[in-house]
Amino acid sequence: RGTSPVPPDARPRLTVLSGPSGVGKSTVVAHMRKEHPEVWLSVSATTRRPRPGERHGVHYFFVTDEEMDKLIANGELLECAEFAGNRYGTPRAAVLERLEAGEPVLLEIDLQGARQVRESMPEAQLVFLAPPSWDELVRRLTGRGTEPPEVIERRLAAARIELAAEPEFDQTLVNTSVEDVARELLALTNVV
Ligand code: 5GP
Repeated sequence: RGTSPVPPDARPRLTVLSGPSGVGKSTVVAHMRKEHPEVWLSVSATTRRPRPGERHGVHYFFVTDEEMDKLIANGELLECAEFAGNRYGTPRAAVLERLEAGEPVLLEIDLQGARQVRESMPEAQLVFLAPPSWDELVRRLTGRGTEPPEVIERRLAAARIELAAEPEFDQTLVNTSVEDVARELLALTNVV
């Protein structure tokens, strides 16, 4: 449903899941990996501080600003971007190793990162996760209403711009139900 069948001669490839912030990318990926732990997800480096429960090397590689500078200067990142005041990047070597071993690779990154991957690896499959509707995205971004109105306004303005990026992507998945989207994403990553 909504996804084309995987051709029998399909080669494992790089799939990039991206989309507006707040659309639920990490929830979809977490759901898919709970059922299919064999799907390899790249672990990003970030300068953000760990949230409770997050583990170094599992959720992220938590690095200092200086370490991030070094990763960038040494060309060790496939892409990197700044998001909400922190830097994030995909370690290149692990991704290339997996692809060379014939295994599919999944990245869950922001739109700026997805654009960089498009440039450096044009064969990558870019998947856009879209909200079911604008109103639904507003609901998710405004959350419990604990944030000041100007913060919410800024997020909504950013979300409008982010939504306009959809035509740059190869595929769009609409986040109506986590289960459905996780299944569609699994089919796209080619591990079914
Ligand atoms: P969070 O801080 O909530 O874990 O992630 C914030 C945003 O950064 C999310 O949109 C997430 O997809 C994105 N992100 C996580 N890792 C990377 C990465 O390696 N590169 C890029 N460009 N974005 C990332």
